Amino acid sequence: SHNRVWNFSAGPSVLPLSVLEEVQRDLLNYKGEGMSVLEMSHRSKVYGNIISDAEATLRRVLKVPDNYSILFLQGGGTGEFAAAYLNLMSCKSVREKQRKLGRQLACDYIVTGGWSKSGLKETKRLGGITNVVLDGVKSAATGEVTYNSLPPVSEWNLGKPEETAFLYYCENETVHGVETPANYVVDVVDPLVPVICDMSSNMLSRPIDISRFGAIVAGAQKNMGPAGVSIVIVRKDLLERDETDPEITRNIPSILDWCYYDGAESMPHTPPTFTIYVCGLVFKWAENLGLEALEKLRETRSGLVYDMIDAHPEFFHGLVDKKFRSAMNLVFTLPTRELEAQFISEAAERNMVQLKGHRNLGGIRISLYNAMPIEGAKAFVIFMKEFYEKNV
Ligand code: PMP
Repeated sequence: SHNRVWNFSAGPSVLPLSVLEEVQRDLLNYKGEGMSVLEMSHRSKVYGNIISDAEATLRRVLKVPDNYSILFLQGGGTGEFAAAYLNLMSCKSVREKQRKLGRQLACDYIVTGGWSKSGLKETKRLGGITNVVLDGVKSAATGEVTYNSLPPVSEWNLGKPEETAFLYYCENETVHGVETPANYVVDVVDPLVPVICDMSSNMLSRPIDISRFGAIVAGAQKNMGPAGVSIVIVRKDLLERDETDPEITRNIPSILDWCYYDGAESMPHTPPTFTIYVCGLVFKWAENLGLEALEKLRETRSGLVYDMIDAHPEFFHGLVDKKFRSAMNLVFTLPTRELEAQFISEAAERNMVQLKGHRNLGGIRISLYNAMPIEGAKAFVIFMKEFYEKNV
């Protein structure tokens, strides 16, 4: 049809074909405006509708409560590492808690892989005091840290609530393939500590109870749309500030300041207009399916591949503890590097691309985001089986 491949990229990644077709159809003349969305002023009425529709659709799909703001920002997922820290430390309730304590509050970090580690590093870089709640799992024998599971909750080193500004974690580690089950973290954190969660690579793939989070941050370029926008869903009381407090806004560049965007329809300055437009179409596509159906699809897709891994564990070696393995990014190794290279090149001959593990981890990684049709996962599993039979 369109000569499209099965694209297992970790992001930017596959988008729904129907969305791409709609973009193509409307590209030269968007709904009779005589111009493309690419060329349209963000101050035009038409664009105002595009962005407010996108926001409203996402709000419906994720059932975002009224006391949460949805913001479209720039700077990618990485920008939000700094933004989360800077905005939370300026928030009125956090500042009050700090005053009461008489010294700087600590920020709790759960480190389950590369991306939460990057969040932790950024906060340290900005002068934050950090408390590492857990850092992967440590081998008792060698002391070596591996990001393939989470230690039992009884071993978590949670800070005291009155000494903690917020707790941060990443729900799906795109590189290490570790996904924390829904509500797993919020169930153990004291409700007085706002939980900040990076959901860049699993947002929109299953229902979430937003009300349990202080803020959810995500780069769009996996389940939500093309690269170029980050989405923040933040509880409104965390945007309250004491304007007489000299230490707050002075410390936050406008571009990272959630309050700068809130109340300005995310448009205090030029937003990434086209990206947000495409995200809006993806949100509509997701709404038509519904989060429950998307969750079933993700379990089906990843289940097909994990079943094959589990059937031949001596050949396909899954890297992550079953309880925490990701439905979005599946990581495994083959018996030798040579077989992995051969696996990748034979897959490419069958139009299956982007299978190479992350440069820091090696092995194989396939990403099965929302827009990957079940047929893609099935084709991959057939290939796995044939490859196994030929090379075992
Ligand atoms: N968090 C997660 C979970 C990610 O997967 C990524 C990027 N793949 C980031 C943060 C960083 O996002 P960006 O590349 O947009 O800065």
